[in-house]
Amino acid sequence: MSDFDNPYAAPQSDSAPPAPPSAAPHVESAGLWRDSKLMVVRIGQVSGIPQRCVKCNTPDDCERMSLRLPYHHPIYFLFLLLTPFGYFQARRAVCVYYNIPLWVCKQHRFWYSFGTFCGGMILAWPFIFLFGGGLFIGIYDRLSGPLSHSAAPATLVIGAVIWAAWCILYFLLGRLTPVKKCHRNRVWLSRISSDYLAALPPLPKDLI
Ligand SMILES: [Zn+2]
Repeated sequence: MSDFDNPYAAPQSDSAPPAPPSAAPHVESAGLWRDSKLMVVRIGQVSGIPQRCVKCNTPDDCERMSLRLPYHHPIYFLFLLLTPFGYFQARRAVCVYYNIPLWVCKQHRFWYSFGTFCGGMILAWPFIFLFGGGLFIGIYDRLSGPLSHSAAPATLVIGAVIWAAWCILYFLLGRLTPVKKCHRNRVWLSRISSDYLAALPPLPKDLI
């Protein structure tokens, strides 16, 4: 005997049963995709960007930052091995900047600000060090006599180590989402939270 004939059967709802909850809600956006561990953004994309931190996927304390992300061909990093200052000079000439508005939480905004400060110190440190080192040597000479032969090179080494630290901190923190690739009107961004990426639709094959 079917339920249609059974007057004691439980009433059936016209509405479809709810879909099982998925691990990550998909973002409906025509200009935002995931491509393996990278996020692909269409240049000029403003709407449809999830209001969650791209670094940790939290929705708390997020603010939209209009990031100015630099890109140059990776081969220019070879300049770093030859002459770091040569690299920064070459970078000025060859870098292309993309303005991408992304949401970033308070904590990652702080580290990003600190990273950009370190980037500024890469160029400012040699001048600060020369001035500060000269001042130190002058005061030392006056108080304790001429600086010993071993102390002067040690001061230079310390200055160089601090300068290298500014460089490392900048490359780790000051580049929030480094641009890995550019193709037509799209950019590929790295260092994005895996949970954030999981909510994005995969990049269609014809756009790769
Ligand atoms: Zn975050």
